[in-house]
Amino acid sequence: MPTEQLIASGQFLHLSRFDPQQFDTPVDFTLKNGTQVHISSPGIIRFDPPSTTTRSLVFSCGVHGNETAPIEICDAIAAQLLTGKLQVKQRVLFLFANLPAMDIAERFVEENMNRLFSGAHSQGQGINNQERERAKELELAVAQFFNDETTTHERIHYDLHTAIRASKNEKFAVYPFLHDKPRNKQQLAILHACGVSTILLSESPTTTFSYYSTNQFGAHGFTVELGKVQPFGQNDMAKFQKVRDTMIRLITELDPDFSAFNPEEMDIYRVNQVINKHFDDFKLHFADDLPNFTDFAKGQVIASETDTTYKCEYDGEAIVFPNANVAIGQRALLTVVPTKI
Ligand SMILES: [Zn+2]
Repeated sequence: MPTEQLIASGQFLHLSRFDPQQFDTPVDFTLKNGTQVHISSPGIIRFDPPSTTTRSLVFSCGVHGNETAPIEICDAIAAQLLTGKLQVKQRVLFLFANLPAMDIAERFVEENMNRLFSGAHSQGQGINNQERERAKELELAVAQFFNDETTTHERIHYDLHTAIRASKNEKFAVYPFLHDKPRNKQQLAILHACGVSTILLSESPTTTFSYYSTNQFGAHGFTVELGKVQPFGQNDMAKFQKVRDTMIRLITELDPDFSAFNPEEMDIYRVNQVINKHFDDFKLHFADDLPNFTDFAKGQVIASETDTTYKCEYDGEAIVFPNANVAIGQRALLTVVPTKI
């Protein structure tokens, strides 16, 4: 393995995609600044500083292969760490999730990976495709990373995405269901520093990656949506400066000081309806390009299928993640209503 080439170029993602056999067996090396680097498999790289740490950070991207902006952000930061332009002060794990889907510029090859966590990869049909296999491998990488802590650390996992459609609130985060635990306002302040001021509180267990880390490891996990899908190289990176800067501060500063949570600066919603598709004739009753967070009046029909019409239950109820093309049994639409925490 030409480690020198990787350190000189920083091109971890490129090698993972186009020369993956280099990482078929785990690779370990130490950078000049003392940072330990561990590559457990293509697309999975971890940095441990030589000094004492207090925070374990997981940044995953490309769970949907065509959501390129987060992939480019993580790739650029990992390259700066490898080449020594930046130095970690905290433990960090980068996960470039669905490499084959990146190659074909699609959301997934066979199956939506963000419905396969918390063991869902092994249920039903079992591990019979690369998405299921990879979801299991990613879970294991996260588990090992958190379990290797020597003291109690603050655990953060941002699973970074971009949405299929435009959004009235361009950047937003889904805060997974915490069961009976309280929501953490300081974490929302960090998201605000990322330029993410719209938060959607999930109120049930799911099979998403962020729920896995939150539920199994007590991490502050979020599914972070950073804007609209664009092909590689066509993202306006200026739009992501705040999130990139905040990620770098979390990685390179021991105790970064973010401004306190201010409810005035944030729009917080709770999920009201989770609408699953049961029949092939499932249909949305609004335009295909209607932005996320567009709201409706109480009683308005938003979707229908055999035997059922779905209506808004509140004035101001808004739609998020509509997708009539999902498989039968999967979520086709969420509705949300404003709330406070
Ligand atoms: Zn996504």
